[in-house]
Amino acid sequence: MRAWLWLGVAAALSAQPLRIQITTGGHAYDPMFHQVFGGREDWKVTVSPHPNAYRPDLRKRVDVLVTYDLVEALSAREMSALRAYLEDGGGLVVLHHALATAWQWEFWYREVVGGRFLMAPEGNLAGSVAKAPEILTAKPVADHPVVKDVGALRLDDEAYKGMWISPRSRVLMETDNPNADKPVVWIGPWTRSRVVAIQLGHGPGAYGDPGFRRLVHNAILWVAGREN
Ligand SMILES: [Zn+2]
Repeated sequence: MRAWLWLGVAAALSAQPLRIQITTGGHAYDPMFHQVFGGREDWKVTVSPHPNAYRPDLRKRVDVLVTYDLVEALSAREMSALRAYLEDGGGLVVLHHALATAWQWEFWYREVVGGRFLMAPEGNLAGSVAKAPEILTAKPVADHPVVKDVGALRLDDEAYKGMWISPRSRVLMETDNPNADKPVVWIGPWTRSRVVAIQLGHGPGAYGDPGFRRLVHNAILWVAGREN
């Protein structure tokens, strides 16, 4: 009886739409980007631009945060709402240029994302470099739900080189493009919720690719704890 009841509760919970917030702002992108999240009737996708992307009690309204913004710094209010969301188990997928957002916020890049695109040199680290258009081939280097059925990718995309990537990040996909850093998909070191960073995703060359879409969908489901 108890097991039956639990199964019923689990089924009811998984039937709830997955609430996904996409954070934008500070960087232009082709509106085709939004098609990446299409085709899922069980997803409720909202777009929230800066400067009010992260309001208090974010976790009550959002299951998965997808960041596709590029702002130099977040306000104290946004940082506090974002941190509370992550400490409360909220899932996070950091996409492409969002790897440069708040690149000097140590908690964010060091503890959560496990990587950052340096917008300028810092100490003995040179700034990171972006190059587009660039063909990026990438393949899974680990067995993980995020890369399930993604296979080898070949995207007309943008290469990032000279990023800082944490030794605590778990790399899931790598490229061999000499203008790019090897890791292009990784799991961030944060343990209080699930975090995936994806370097790929500059424009329509990635947005329209079925393998890229599969990767993004897998990442969203995994950080939400709803992977197959
Ligand atoms: Zn880009």
